[in-house]
Amino acid sequence: MKEYAFGIDLGGTTAKVGLFTTAGALLEKWEVPTDTSEKGVRILPNLAAAVLGKMEEKGLTPDQIEGVGIGVPGPVQDSSVVPIVCANLGGWGQQDVAANLSLLLNGMKVLVGNDANVAALGEIWMGAAKGCRSAVMVTLGTGVGGGVIVNGKVIDGAHGAGGEIGHITVNKNETAVCGCGKHGCLEQYSSATGVVRCMKKLLEENPDVPCTLRGTDFAAKDVFDAARAGDALAAKEVDQMTDDLGLALAIIAATADPEVFLVGGGVARAGDVLFQPLTERYKTYAFKSCRETPIKQASLGNDAGIYGAVRLIVGA
Ligand SMILES: [Zn+2]
Repeated sequence: MKEYAFGIDLGGTTAKVGLFTTAGALLEKWEVPTDTSEKGVRILPNLAAAVLGKMEEKGLTPDQIEGVGIGVPGPVQDSSVVPIVCANLGGWGQQDVAANLSLLLNGMKVLVGNDANVAALGEIWMGAAKGCRSAVMVTLGTGVGGGVIVNGKVIDGAHGAGGEIGHITVNKNETAVCGCGKHGCLEQYSSATGVVRCMKKLLEENPDVPCTLRGTDFAAKDVFDAARAGDALAAKEVDQMTDDLGLALAIIAATADPEVFLVGGGVARAGDVLFQPLTERYKTYAFKSCRETPIKQASLGNDAGIYGAVRLIVGA
């Protein structure tokens, strides 16, 4: 094993880049703007320039670099040779990211994974699931991302849809449409956007119930803060949200049976007011042999993606 590796977490606005030792120490991290103009033609050249520039700055030669791992916001079908479509990267078409980036890096080893799966890999390597062979991570942000690791390997599936936890149907009767075109997806209730949408609906349906959020421009965090402070309507929303999420985790437990569930993203910072009812609801739905599976907060925050990208390179 060579001494260093780079991890990249490619997002729609910026890419996070990290220089690591192959033992997993993060030496330096920085951000590179994601240029989505002209169908993202400059995305990979800019990332290659960032890596090569850092190597020059640090006096590192290619024989000291194990490779570059990259997490991308789209479905990935194979962790080495990957045709992908990333709708939120300015119409980036199907392309073999690993081969194309490797070419720009003079033949350096490049491996690619879906960003949510890669974040889970980071958590199992150096984060809240360290030492586990299997873990399922749910990231609650604008949407709901998921990563499933079994026996140290990412489950990306036959169609790249492995880990699409946000689109598990938890409400067959929903009429509102999810971003994916279905109805009743977990993401519609448990994402930050979903919590706000559902809270607004509760306020409309209960015009006579006093609520500290009424008439304010609130975010998901405010709903959890209000519930913690004893607001009955906000508590009702948290009950519903944790019930939906607990149900989804119990469904996943019946197929993947992980050692631990991790919850990441902005909403996970709510702490006990989220995790306590979530754990209770999970237990009511879970099959008895996996009823005690812990549900923990992810610990690497925004760095999970770059850790996991390096883990792709240094091997599971
Ligand atoms: Zn959906």
